[in-house]
Amino acid sequence: MSKQSDNILISEQLSEYSELVYGFCNRNNSYDSYCFINLMGISKLIKLKQIHSNIVHDVDCNTEQESDLQGDALVCGYRGICIGVYTADCIPILLYDKQHCIVAAVHAGWRGTLKGVISETLKNMKLNHNSDPADIVSVIGPGIGKCCFEVDKDVAIKFIEKFQETDNFINPYNSKFILDLQHINKEMLKKEGVNNIEVIDICTKCDTNYYSYRREGQGVESQLSFIGLRNHSGGN
Ligand SMILES: [Zn+2]
Repeated sequence: MSKQSDNILISEQLSEYSELVYGFCNRNNSYDSYCFINLMGISKLIKLKQIHSNIVHDVDCNTEQESDLQGDALVCGYRGICIGVYTADCIPILLYDKQHCIVAAVHAGWRGTLKGVISETLKNMKLNHNSDPADIVSVIGPGIGKCCFEVDKDVAIKFIEKFQETDNFINPYNSKFILDLQHINKEMLKKEGVNNIEVIDICTKCDTNYYSYRREGQGVESQLSFIGLRNHSGGN
C-alpha cells in the first residue's frame, strides 16, 4: 500500500525511516525537482544519462550534481545526497539497506531488466557496502503494467531464454506477448535474497497522472523517483 503526499507517491515501508527523503513523482509535480529536494535536507540530486544498461555507479561527496554519469543505477551511503532515476513506463526501483544506511535508485526498462540491472545493483551494495539482502527494503515503483506491456515475439524470446520460469510474467496475447516487468524484477530481488519487497500497483500507461512513452509517444517527459539520506541538520 502507498499514499499520496503533495502528489509524490510514497511507500509505507520506506516511510518508517525518518532519515530518508524519497518519493515517486508524477506529471503533477510541476515544481523543479532541485527546489523541493533543497527543502528536505538534501544538498544535491545526482542523476544519470540513462542508457538501458546494467551499469551501476557509486556516488560520493565528490560526485558533481551536473556529472555526466552514464548508466542505470546509483548507490549512495552519504548524507545530504539524493539519487534519482527518470522513467516514463520503465520501472523505477528504490532500495534501502537499513543496517548500513545505503540507498539505491534503479531504472529498469525491459532492456535493463534483461541485463539484470537490479542484480548488479545488489551486487554493488554487497561488495562495496557489505549490505546483507536481509536488511534491504525495496520498493518497485509505478511503471507500465501487465495490463499494457505488449512486446513482440523477438523480445519475448529473449526473456524466455534468460529466465527459466516465465509462467507468471510472460503470456501470449493475440500475436504478441504481455510482459510483467514489475514481477520479473520482484523475482530477481527475491533470487538475490531480498524479501522485503513492496510493489506499487500503478500502470503508467493506464494512469494519466503519469508520463507514459507508450501512451504519449516519443518526446514524452519523464517522472523522477528519488531517494537519499537527510543531512542531520536539514529537513523536518
Ligand atoms: Zn495498464
